[in-house]
Amino acid sequence: MPKYIVVTGGVLSGLGKGIVTSSIGLLLKSRGYSITAIKIDPYLNCDAGTMNPFQHGEVFVLEDGGEVDLDLGNYERFLDINLSRDNNITTGKAYRSVIERERRGDYLGKTVQIVPHVTDEIKGWIREVAVKSGVDICVVEIGGTVGDIESMPFLEAVRQLRLEEGKENVLFIHTTLVPIMKVVGEQKTKPTQHSVKELRAIGISPDIIVARSPRPLNEEVKGKISLFCNVPVHAVFSSPDVECIYEVPLVLEKQDITRCILNNLALPYSEGNLEEWVRFVEKTKNGTKPLNIAMVGKYTSLGDSYISILEAFRHAAAELDAKVKVTWIEAENLKGEEEFRTTDAILVPGGFGERGAEGKIRAIEYARDNGIPFLGICFGFQLAVVEYGRHVLGLDCNTTEVDEHTPHPIVTILPEQREIEQMGGTMRLGAEPVVVKKGTTAYGLYKKEKILERHRHRYEVNPEYIDKLEGAGLVFSGIAEDKIRMEILELPGHPYFVASQFHPEFKSHPLKPAPLFYGFIKAAVEKKYGQ
Ligand code: GLN
Repeated sequence: MPKYIVVTGGVLSGLGKGIVTSSIGLLLKSRGYSITAIKIDPYLNCDAGTMNPFQHGEVFVLEDGGEVDLDLGNYERFLDINLSRDNNITTGKAYRSVIERERRGDYLGKTVQIVPHVTDEIKGWIREVAVKSGVDICVVEIGGTVGDIESMPFLEAVRQLRLEEGKENVLFIHTTLVPIMKVVGEQKTKPTQHSVKELRAIGISPDIIVARSPRPLNEEVKGKISLFCNVPVHAVFSSPDVECIYEVPLVLEKQDITRCILNNLALPYSEGNLEEWVRFVEKTKNGTKPLNIAMVGKYTSLGDSYISILEAFRHAAAELDAKVKVTWIEAENLKGEEEFRTTDAILVPGGFGERGAEGKIRAIEYARDNGIPFLGICFGFQLAVVEYGRHVLGLDCNTTEVDEHTPHPIVTILPEQREIEQMGGTMRLGAEPVVVKKGTTAYGLYKKEKILERHRHRYEVNPEYIDKLEGAGLVFSGIAEDKIRMEILELPGHPYFVASQFHPEFKSHPLKPAPLFYGFIKAAVEKKYGQ
């Protein structure tokens, strides 16, 4: 039977709970335990697909097409596993399932209530994911902050889970904030005390506390947290600010958190092997070749809205001794070439709708004309086709997403998308096979003919224009198995002009950078620093 580790958060959101959860998973995995991770999001949306990335961060896409919270991206990157849509539970999903049961008559005669019906649903869901994945340990992260109305049913469910599974099978880790008051420089424990009090009022006593703080906690502060929060002092850990998120597991490992966790779960302890990870962290920190990459997008003010792309940069840069600095360019305000004066490479990420599209096209044109390494993703791929159609083929063309009545719809809606009216979960989603053409840049990077990459789109290159585009020199080096959908494009003779209909960033891992990102960073390094 699997064991469970439940991670809650106190004081405020954005503490990096997802990174702590992923780090704990990695440390346990390094001891040979098999791990899965569940993220609970206490909002009423059934999934993250309909949520604005500007408010909530990126929508991460899984192999099975699940559109999920970005923390699942962190779990996949740290743990090197593939999760499924069921690993993200939202209030919307839990309630929908209960209401469907009620309509079916499953509860006939009963009054359907949050306790026990919704809480049973949540527990059942957690257990099913854990058992189905066949793992030793299932880590469950509860989003939001303890004390929110929204998270109550989930906290109640995990309280019951501990009661039913037993103390040695369910462990509670609470992450909090220990701020430092500037004037006196003192680490303050009161917010932690209050959030633990809140948790205990619900019936949950944390076994371990992980305190986020600008600096490591001093012993006196640890003692105070221990005393007031009823946690042994050796179970209070610090997670100070670090330069790179991949250091967090190493910081926790140094404090012997793994031993504490395994003791609590009555599981045998062994030394872990983190050598490869340590080497990767060193490489990400010590890159000697700075690169300035311009990201031309719409949600540029929130780094989290492109988190997988930023991580993919790091994975590739680590292999190539590079250090990436990203300059955000708001596509809508893109003025002209002067914005790219210090740019070594340009990335145009995925996106939706008209706003900023012309600015993105201008950036692509600049990259193509000036031999600047360019990577286009999804919408960036589609706009690269529009750019080529306009400036090389001389067509007055567009994507119908931006202009429905364009005389040349060079990018158009997928046939199976035409009749769809519902927005949630209806795009072409998830991993689909792509056939890579031998002898191309893409083939040189993937080194195989058949790849599986993740998609999230409604539009595609209009098959009627493919011959014309190829006739004018554009190469479609990746094509879907149906031979109709274009998946990768590239421009021979250019240092690196590559774009993909799929999102390579979702499958990039530390130690295993996404090939198209690797090629992109490599081209930028070579252009700037020579071979
Ligand atoms: N808006 C485009 C489409 O729906 C691209 C989507 C994306 O970039 N993820 O096809």
